[in-house]
Amino acid sequence: MPLRPKLRRRRRTKILATLGPASATPEVLARLFHGGADVFRLNFSHGSHDDHRERIRMIRELEEKSGRPIGILADVQGPKLRVGRFGGGRVFLQTGKPFRLDLNATPGDSERVNLPHPEIIEAASIGATLLLDDGKLRLRVVRKRADALETEVVVGGPLSDRKGVNVPDVVLPIPALTAKDREDLAFAIEHGANYIGLSFVQRPEDVAEAKALVGGRAWIMTKMEKPQALENLDAILALSDAVMVARGDLGVELPPEEVPLAQKRIVRAARALGKPVVVATQMLESMISAPAPTRAEASDVATAVFDGADAVMLSAETAAGQYPFEAVNIMDRIVARVEQDQGWRAIIEASRPEPERSAADAIAAAARQVGHTIGAQAIVAFTDSGSTALRVARERPESPIVGLTPNMDTARRLALVWGVHAVVAPEAHSMTDAVSKATRTASSEGFASHGQEIVVCAGVPFGQPGTTNALRVATVK
Ligand code: PGA
Ligand code: MN
Repeated sequence: MPLRPKLRRRRRTKILATLGPASATPEVLARLFHGGADVFRLNFSHGSHDDHRERIRMIRELEEKSGRPIGILADVQGPKLRVGRFGGGRVFLQTGKPFRLDLNATPGDSERVNLPHPEIIEAASIGATLLLDDGKLRLRVVRKRADALETEVVVGGPLSDRKGVNVPDVVLPIPALTAKDREDLAFAIEHGANYIGLSFVQRPEDVAEAKALVGGRAWIMTKMEKPQALENLDAILALSDAVMVARGDLGVELPPEEVPLAQKRIVRAARALGKPVVVATQMLESMISAPAPTRAEASDVATAVFDGADAVMLSAETAAGQYPFEAVNIMDRIVARVEQDQGWRAIIEASRPEPERSAADAIAAAARQVGHTIGAQAIVAFTDSGSTALRVARERPESPIVGLTPNMDTARRLALVWGVHAVVAPEAHSMTDAVSKATRTASSEGFASHGQEIVVCAGVPFGQPGTTNALRVATVK
């Protein structure tokens, strides 16, 4: 029995919620999902495989009960660089004093600490900046030795065990996937993750490498969190299936004034390609410990919706915060409210990319236009790989999109895509069959009732991928 039949969202922009200790039971998951979370993120920087296995099991159980496909993003840690440990767990670095990073694994003090990454010591040159603990502390390399970097503390402060290290000036000669990432990736694929999040990508080759391992079993979501990756944006996007504006780490390496522009640039480039784009991190940060967001945070969520992003993301707010339900609820309300605004519609219309020169794009654009003219209750897109639904979503139409697919994995992937309500249904055999399946689904899913019109996009003959070529207007019987 579905918990709530005809569960449909009243917004187009999707919500991605990160799971963690604050969201570890089936009850909490169900509340997050019914409150608005469309896709769940498992963060492989934390938790054991047993934890993740259990979460995936709970998500699939919830999916079964709710009757709605739910996407899972397995976010692998990537080569996050960290310092080693300190004698007393933490030290204080004085501005202006020397500090050494070396390959010596013994606990550190206020004069030195282990940096277990010989490749950084090798790659960093004199004058390079090292950022510690999300950029709170800043060091400058003054001398290089074979096994150590001698630095000067430019901005001091407290430093504790295993804090992160960023090296914004240097393209590091390290692969995007560590040994742990490879294990996590294999685990995630085996357990049916729908997206693999790639962290700290620097070059297109990093994406190509992961793509070869994943082999189409999930969509690759590249996290843009390095300035080096921004320089290669087009080539990286060309190889990715989806992208995340990972403002947390990106904001450590880029000055604050650059982050909003990077967000706009990444969203625009992804939308042009019709690839899902997520705006992530610190969206409702203060809700980790408060039941209501700051008004600036509400405005940040709204900005991502105005940019036309496919999804907005919650991190610690739902993974470890005290108010996970409130965070999802408020995000849902902000998104829905913005999308009712005429000004939002006007911006979406003005930012629409031109169709590419293909039959699929011609049909997608026409479906949007026809839907607008007749006020269609839905555009029903028959989609096997998800591509037709993506091309229709790229148009950002006024009518909601129903993605009808015979493939459960496709439906789960589409859970992240702007405006798409995915439904698993058997393949159509003819246009007549397609129209009847489309109208019945539009009606049973609560989009259209007797006498109302829908637009149907399909590929004829059926069952052949890449043939989107037909458009029909149909009336619900
Ligand atoms: P993270 O990625 O939460 O895995 O660090 C997102 C970000 O850096 O913004
Ligand atoms: Mn990150």
